[in-house]
Amino acid sequence: MRDDAAQHGLLPVHLHILQYLAQANHYSDLPIAIAEYLGITRGTVSQSLAVLEGKELLIKAPDPRHGKRVHLHLTAAGESVLQASWAERVGRALAAIPSGGIACEITLFNLLRALQRVNGQRPFGICRQCTHFLSDADGAHCGLTREPLAQEQTSRICREWTAPAEA
Ligand code: SF4
Repeated sequence: MRDDAAQHGLLPVHLHILQYLAQANHYSDLPIAIAEYLGITRGTVSQSLAVLEGKELLIKAPDPRHGKRVHLHLTAAGESVLQASWAERVGRALAAIPSGGIACEITLFNLLRALQRVNGQRPFGICRQCTHFLSDADGAHCGLTREPLAQEQTSRICREWTAPAEA
């Protein structure tokens, strides 16, 4: 991770932020959500965003409905930094394991979930696996915000994600 970041004149935390934003939905592409997801201070987030914006790897877009709120989006240059990154290589290595690495992925998922609990962190999860996710003939909706969800948002991660009740 350090080597990957250094190739672009960045620190590992900058790559973590880019990787997070590449997956985050429109409720979660916010500075406060980055701080929650990575367990870092708002000051560190603010400094890191200034670096990434200065290198034109992300842009800030004002929220049309919420005054001071800004959404963070990767630029094409930001996306290209992630190509062939450590996370991409892990994904390819998992896929190359016989049976697609499914068993390994489940083990990693359970390990990370347990670590989230131990560290008292908010569980971010994939939208369509959330207890609030609703889908009908009209499309996908969020049961929490009562807003429609664009299809491409349903595979992203969300700071409001809630695990479905266990059967
Ligand atoms: S359904 Fe859950 S994960 Fe999806 S946007 Fe709503 S709260 Fe977030």
